[in-house]
Amino acid sequence: MNNSLETEHVQCLIIGSGPAGYTAAIYAARADLKPVLYTGMEAGGQLTQTTDVDNFPGYPNGVMGPEMMEDFRKQAERFGTDIRFGYVSSVDFSSTPHRVVVDEIKTITADTVIISTGATAKWLGLPSEQKYNGFGVSACAVCDGFFFKGQDIAIVGAGDTAAEEATYLAKLCKKVYMLVRRDEFRASKAMVHRVLNTPNIEVIYNSEATEVLGNGKNVTGIKVLNNQTGAEQELAVEGFFVAIGHQPNTAIFKDWLDMDETGYLKTIPGSTKTNVEGVFACGDVQDHYYRQAVTAAGSGCMAALDAERYLAAKEAV
Ligand SMILES: Cc1cc2nc3c(=O)[nH]c(=O)nc-3n(C[C@H](O)[C@H](O)[C@H](O)COP(=O)(O)OP(=O)(O)OC[C@H]3O[C@@H](n4cnc5c(N)ncnc54)[C@H](O)[C@@H]3O)c2cc1C
Repeated sequence: MNNSLETEHVQCLIIGSGPAGYTAAIYAARADLKPVLYTGMEAGGQLTQTTDVDNFPGYPNGVMGPEMMEDFRKQAERFGTDIRFGYVSSVDFSSTPHRVVVDEIKTITADTVIISTGATAKWLGLPSEQKYNGFGVSACAVCDGFFFKGQDIAIVGAGDTAAEEATYLAKLCKKVYMLVRRDEFRASKAMVHRVLNTPNIEVIYNSEATEVLGNGKNVTGIKVLNNQTGAEQELAVEGFFVAIGHQPNTAIFKDWLDMDETGYLKTIPGSTKTNVEGVFACGDVQDHYYRQAVTAAGSGCMAALDAERYLAAKEAV
């Protein structure tokens, strides 16, 4: 913990600027909590990495991800949220008010802290995967599967999420190639059973995608290596889904907050309360199951209401 002399006190500190953080800010600002929000390194969150968002209510013609997050920001600002670029480098939740260090130099004390630091999708790390991200490459079947209706796609991954996403995509797409790195799945037996009994999913074991092929605009195929024989083949697909997991952004909270085995923050069911009083968590950082902008926004609203009621109850004592 940095002991910088530059200390500021706030009623409500929001960490993160995705749909959860900005929605929390809108509600907290309108409740006069005078929230301060730190954007982190990815101002606007995960949706700034994508192109079309077609499933967020209120945009009948769809919207580009970065544009939608700009709308969120403007709405949070309109009610007086103090939005600042900076990242939270450490926290100390041992006493109240809670202490938070920003950019390793500035200490803030806060009556309430709303954590909305999200989760980061894991990628294979291929340059071509990055090039076509949002143009045929995706890390979210529920978000982007619809764009590939009736087409052929490939998905990489072998866990429960990959199996679930493959069966979801199989309902929309003509053909789903599922690339599994080893000669078996990591998913539960029930999920593997579902995959193997879906006629339009073809599982290719011992396989690794080595390149995403495209025409400069969109994905047209992938190169696949058999890691046992060294043989390479090309699959003609219009979409490539990477389902190898997400990393919740929670490293700085590990000494203070309860987490599950993969690092997602635990909240008291039906609320956004963590195990520390006055600290709330919302959005993907506490939700590995739904992982949608609208659910993140919904829980951001809950976090602001939980914070407001916590402060009101403290005042009443
Ligand atoms: C490519 C892609 C396409 C998607 N498409 C859709 C879609 O079409 N529809 C849909 O509903 N969902 C979609 N999603 C999922 C959606 O983006 C997420 O569910 C949503 O963004 C989660 O919101 P969040 O606010 O919880 O976190 P995030 O959006 O992940 O935001 C986290 C924020 O926390 C900040 N942060 C992290 N660490 C710190 C720190 N130490 N200090 C300060 N700030 C920090 C980051 O800078 C970021 O601003 C997509 C995701 C991806 C990756």
